[in-house]
Amino acid sequence: MKVHNVEMIMSAVRPEQYPAEGYPEFALAGRSNVGKSSFINKMIGRKSLARTSSKPGKTQTLNFYKIEEQLFFVDVPGYGYAKVSKSSRETWGKFIQQYMTEREPLRAVIQIVDLRHAPSADDCAMYDFLVENNMPAIIIATKADKIPKGKWEKHKKVVRETLAMRPYDALIVFSSEKGIGMDEAWKEIESRM
Ligand code: GDP
Repeated sequence: MKVHNVEMIMSAVRPEQYPAEGYPEFALAGRSNVGKSSFINKMIGRKSLARTSSKPGKTQTLNFYKIEEQLFFVDVPGYGYAKVSKSSRETWGKFIQQYMTEREPLRAVIQIVDLRHAPSADDCAMYDFLVENNMPAIIIATKADKIPKGKWEKHKKVVRETLAMRPYDALIVFSSEKGIGMDEAWKEIESRM
């Protein structure tokens, strides 16, 4: 998809604040600092519409980006901050859980991981949650520009095995720096709209 028109429509917490258009939604999840904002910005062709690396506790909202009057990207707070208090983690969990389990227009969760490393325990917990709730996932393994192309397959295998991915979930090698994987990611999203 060639994106011309994006509107950051709102930050929402409660279901009554979610947009009413009924367009398909794709939620973005990832450990803080993994490159989630960079992914969103690259996909929508903006330098910095999605905020980068907000401080823990600062982004306890869902941010809805309306794209081409066709779909929404829904940015959810990054997970896995060591410093986040237990109570704040619980808030995160409940809040996201409610959105991810009850939201009718949600087609898939786009989970961002780092291609360089095996997924963390938090990454696995996030993915397990999607499996338990029968929510399709698109796994984006980003920062691919930081490892040689010859090693991508080996790293992909580690990601697939560590997450214990369902065979039908897509795993896409990506780089926000180089634009690698953009067409493939859009293709995957559009096929689920
Ligand atoms: P977020 O906290 O998940 O939203 O992460 P950001 O998008 O803010 O990215 C965290 C850091 O990783 C920033 O310094 C980015 O410039 C860097 N980064 C993100 N994606 C890539 C990528 O594909 N390649 C490289 N080399 N750096 C990246």
